[in-house]
Amino acid sequence: MIYFDKVSKIYNGTGKTVALEDVSFAIEPGEFVSIVGQSGAGKTTLLKMLLAEEAPTSGSVFFESTNINELRDAEKPLLRRRIGTVFQDFKLLPNKTAYENIAFAMEVAGRAEEEIAADVPHVLELVDLGNKMWNFPHQLSGGERQRVAIARAIVNQPDLIIADEPTGNLDPVNTYEIVQIFRKINDMGTTVFLTTHNKGIIDSIKKRVITLEHGRVSRDDKAGQYVL
Ligand code: ADP
Repeated sequence: MIYFDKVSKIYNGTGKTVALEDVSFAIEPGEFVSIVGQSGAGKTTLLKMLLAEEAPTSGSVFFESTNINELRDAEKPLLRRRIGTVFQDFKLLPNKTAYENIAFAMEVAGRAEEEIAADVPHVLELVDLGNKMWNFPHQLSGGERQRVAIARAIVNQPDLIIADEPTGNLDPVNTYEIVQIFRKINDMGTTVFLTTHNKGIIDSIKKRVITLEHGRVSRDDKAGQYVL
């Protein structure tokens, strides 16, 4: 489903930064893959390439048979519609309720009113927030906000969910709950690709872990270990 083929990325800022160096791996549909590594290891850069937000300096990134670097600007939204995204800072719209945040994502994707009315309560139930549908983000805890963001990410039934440090702002109890939700989504068939530097998460997920060190893949373990 995803294939990184000898991908390198050099940022040209005040100096040259090698963010990724000769990174190759493949992810099959239905996998749950965590990318671990210290801050600056290149994790976010990797996810941005899947969204066509950053292009490799050399090498190629494929989503199914599509070479992402060869997409024209007009084609990028189609790719992004197939990928649900979750971020450390939730990125909810502050002046919209939980329901409206999710409904908005469906409207943007061109979904019909009836579908929106049926699907929004359903995904909120799935993340156990059926009773907080009409709360604004400031009336929700951090863990609840992240659950709204996850509901929003899955509502258009993407093939892939990518999550960049999704538990970075959460305490251990909320972290555990969020991980359980990702597992549930994965069990329902969606491929999950997340970044973290939380060792506890990795040890509890017991799924594939790719370790990045200074932009290079240093380990690729089938069943979860965080070794740095
Ligand atoms: P991580 O997500 O693992 O913390 P990043 O992918 O964000 O790592 O960053 C990898 C390296 O690339 C870091 O050294 C970072 O400073 C650098 N970097 C990231 N984005 C940019 C950018 N837009 N311009 C210049 N350097 C960048």
